[in-house]
Amino acid sequence: MSNEFSAKFQCINGCSQQFELSEILYRCPTCGDLFEVQHDMDKLKKKSSEEWKALFESRYRKHEWPYGSSVWGKKELVCPNVESENIVSTYEGGTNLFWAERLGKQIGLNDLWVKQCGMAHTGSFKDLGMTVLVSMVKQMIADGKNIRAVACASTGDTSAALAAYCAVAGIPAIVFLPKDKVSLSQLVQPITHGITTLSLDTDFDGCMKLVQEICSKENIYLANSMNSLRIEGQKTISFELAQQFDWGTPDFVVVPGGNLGNVSAIGKGFKMMYDLGIIQKLPRLVCAQAANADPLYQSYKDGFNSFKPQRAQKTLASAIQIGDPVSVKKAIRALQAFDGIVEHATENELANAVGRANRTGLFCCPHTGVALAALEKLIQRGEIKSSDRVVVISTANALKFTDFLYNYHNNSLPGVESECAFSSIDLPADYNQVRDAIFKAID
Ligand SMILES: *Cc1c(COP(=O)(O)O)cnc(C)c1O
Ligand SMILES: [Zn+2]
Repeated sequence: MSNEFSAKFQCINGCSQQFELSEILYRCPTCGDLFEVQHDMDKLKKKSSEEWKALFESRYRKHEWPYGSSVWGKKELVCPNVESENIVSTYEGGTNLFWAERLGKQIGLNDLWVKQCGMAHTGSFKDLGMTVLVSMVKQMIADGKNIRAVACASTGDTSAALAAYCAVAGIPAIVFLPKDKVSLSQLVQPITHGITTLSLDTDFDGCMKLVQEICSKENIYLANSMNSLRIEGQKTISFELAQQFDWGTPDFVVVPGGNLGNVSAIGKGFKMMYDLGIIQKLPRLVCAQAANADPLYQSYKDGFNSFKPQRAQKTLASAIQIGDPVSVKKAIRALQAFDGIVEHATENELANAVGRANRTGLFCCPHTGVALAALEKLIQRGEIKSSDRVVVISTANALKFTDFLYNYHNNSLPGVESECAFSSIDLPADYNQVRDAIFKAID
């Protein structure tokens, strides 16, 4: 029975009171700070690391509900409090760990891997956390809690994930999007699932304020990552990486950061495996920000002594155009615990990093470009060595960002000098002209 294990909400500042995961609370009533999900580690430690690994391997991508999902295959470490019949899953996780041999050689690494988290049901890694949150909501509704709907503010991918999971479960949802700041595909995703889609004349930070107010006053459940249930799902990125390296640990994990839930989630996942003896070593974490929205980078430069929210400037990496990240404290703690680094990338750097990577067969979104550009800088500075095993977290599927790619290859992105401009060749259907064009291209 899963109920032999248990997890509760506890404030990140250690205020003593714990709360059930089924309580509708997002912040500590004593100090107002965020919660994190605290697992009963003593119970988890009763199983040996060998037993855990064998259990996870036996479930991985198999049929038995819900354990074939790589999130729910680690249910005891993720969210033991939900009954399997209430789990809302699209068989998430288990994404490809791509050996980027050619790109690695070009940028000076022998052991570069790209974790293809965008190869997911809704095309981004947000599915990993959303399956946990929506499952818990379904459990709460089954237990008689009065929840009319679930809502989130989003830069595009959270709303797509919330919409899909609520549509699977038949739970009403509302998404708050900043007008003209998400891609057409991201706007279409909640619409096609029949989810109430609000396009507001503000930025992400403005949407965030409004959705928090609505959720605090109405019986609407908040699905943003300040709700730490989502962090529990996102941390399975680390479980999966260890598993895919046959329970080994890479030297560095590079992830793009906006609201900063994910960098802390990745840290939490590795720490938990380490405490259970499943892995023997912790990686170093790198958080990569767009230079146009880089409050964490500025804080890092100051030794994390201060943190100043920004008004985020427009960036091609629209999912991380966030100036006032909700999980900043968690992120700073994770980076300090994992000997972390924060780096940033300009529009020109992130776009050309995508251009170079895609020439080697990858298919990257602009956020993955931020991570790759940051990685290139760290290699150039010698902070990452050619022999280090590095994983870049690719956070979304580039098919959501075809406008960006099209404009990049046409060299028509403002502030970007496209180093890999490349476009289709328009020709009449004439043998000689086609042959001449081919040999001009491949010579
Ligand atoms: C959400 C998101 C991120 C950033 O994650 P945070 O937890 O907000 O830092 C990066 N890339 C993509 C594509 C995202 O959707
Ligand atoms: Zn507190």
